[in-house]
Amino acid sequence: MSDAPRPSNFLADIVEADLRAGRNGGRVVTRFPPEPNGFLHIGHAKSILLNFGLARAYGGHTHLRFDDTNPVTEETEYVEAIQADVRWLGCEWGGHLYYASDFFERMYACAERLVRDGKAYVDSQTQDRIREQRGSFERPGVNSPFRDRLAAESLDLLHRMRAGELPDGAAVLRARIDMAHPNVLMRDPLLYRIRHASHHRTGDRWCIYPMYDFAHPLEDAFEGVTHSICTLEFESNRELYDWVLDNLGPWDPRPRQYEFARLSLGYTVLSKRKLLHLVNERRVSGWDDPRMPTIAGMRRRGVTPEALRDFADLIGVAKNNSVVDIGKLEFAIRGDLERRTPRALAVLNPLRLVVESWPADRTEELDVPWWPAEPARGGSRKVPFGRELLIERDDFSEEPPKDWKRLAPGREVRLAGGYVVRCEGVERDASGAITAVRATHDPASRGEGERRKVSGTIHWVHATRSVPAEVRLYDRLFAVEQPDAEPDFLQALNPDSLVLAKGARVEPALADAAPGTRWQFLRQGYFFVDPVDSLPGAPAFNRTITLKDTWAARTAVKPEARRARREPAPAGGAEGAGPGASRKARAELRAEA
Ligand code: ATP
Ligand code: MG
Repeated sequence: MSDAPRPSNFLADIVEADLRAGRNGGRVVTRFPPEPNGFLHIGHAKSILLNFGLARAYGGHTHLRFDDTNPVTEETEYVEAIQADVRWLGCEWGGHLYYASDFFERMYACAERLVRDGKAYVDSQTQDRIREQRGSFERPGVNSPFRDRLAAESLDLLHRMRAGELPDGAAVLRARIDMAHPNVLMRDPLLYRIRHASHHRTGDRWCIYPMYDFAHPLEDAFEGVTHSICTLEFESNRELYDWVLDNLGPWDPRPRQYEFARLSLGYTVLSKRKLLHLVNERRVSGWDDPRMPTIAGMRRRGVTPEALRDFADLIGVAKNNSVVDIGKLEFAIRGDLERRTPRALAVLNPLRLVVESWPADRTEELDVPWWPAEPARGGSRKVPFGRELLIERDDFSEEPPKDWKRLAPGREVRLAGGYVVRCEGVERDASGAITAVRATHDPASRGEGERRKVSGTIHWVHATRSVPAEVRLYDRLFAVEQPDAEPDFLQALNPDSLVLAKGARVEPALADAAPGTRWQFLRQGYFFVDPVDSLPGAPAFNRTITLKDTWAARTAVKPEARRARREPAPAGGAEGAGPGASRKARAELRAEA
């Protein structure tokens, strides 16, 4: 047994009970079996962390298996992306990389054995006809006229199917179980079908391919999997899973299937078919568009594997399906980034601030710590201060509301890490629009004067020494909580899911920010230096997430109501929520999960 943290969920209970009872000779082998027909998404991440986490905790190991039994939709590009994503999550399969297609020959031998044993037959009807005969929950099925075919005849036909003598759809191999079985899936299910199509690994060697319900239990058994964990939709397939193994054993270990609730997430679609549609329709820039719920997309947005693990821990493993509040994912991401990002200065929508009391030819290099609230972490950089600065347009108001804590005529604010300034007036253009704010500074407000009270602190950069940067403000991809429930999910896309901050400028220290680094732009959010589009000296910043939950405000849920629903309080803020605060919210969320 290892010292990895013990998960606490019903699957861990099952594994522990098996170990106590000495089943499977003390082995714990799980698998993650993606079909290589798209990129992995956050639902897969949950399954990966569950499978690898269980095995790691109980001294076992996990297989990565490509479930490549459908030649038509699968591609090598996906195989590579999936491996990169699993590794990025911190999960290692060691030497245990498998492809279902590696077992095609053995699966075929199992099919022949079933035929010889009188447990399978070749049906020469069309698949449509077979579907009609299957009956329903209320109505038993109808036997195929080919059900009583002699084993020798079926065997001969199976050989001819394999040899390519029959066209697509001419025949299928079916299990001979019971056409009146209460479980419709047990009514002589299809085991093999003809598909004259090239496979990404086996090329044209095969023209018949096994069905999922036949291939999956066999793959598990061939590989020695002990706990085969899948999502709830497969609950009624379990009976067939057991039938296949019971009629083709003995196996050691004999794999068992267990089901858990698949992840559904608010404001998100998680079907590979729909994600592929978004890519093909160019609604996103690709599978790794930072708005995609794919692992590649989230990685490019700046989300860390640790945040995804925190999220998985937070929501736990359930036995009934429900839609998880996306606020929980965002909470996990904020909590993770809050701990790891240095605080930097960037102005996204600049307005000139002229400090008239400052000499035009003088620049002061202020020494500003990267971790203002945690000086012990050390590190600082120089930030130039001068007469011409830029502030956020939203941080100035000519006629401020009552509780305004930013800049306004006659008011004082501190420029973060710098001096206190006082607004003395504005400059306007011919049309009357404000083009600059005029201010004076208090020379005594740094150093000893640091403690001087002002109503607020705003961020800023030097007007000419700051550098222009591409800043992409990403937001939720969908505007409604359940896009899958819409008649056309494309209509539910959020038109503002990507806004380019025109004219954004960052402090000089960020000019060379390395691709893949993460920053908190003071008072704005967490940003990630895009690894693809950044150039040396010209970084492109992806907003991973805002500091606060802006959607809670937009959907106008009152704080009392949020508390009643035990949702996370918006974490972060310029100072960040203290570790105590985030621990508390975490415990509450866990309790709810
Ligand atoms: P999709 O519906 O997105 O196409 P899939 O189930 O067809 O997904 P697979 O590649 O077959 O995708 O999935 C590989 C593994 O990931 C399976 O074991 C499946 O149970 C698991 N998985 C897929 N989607 C989810 C999800 N939303 N939540 C949890 N596990 C999932
Ligand atoms: Mg699938």
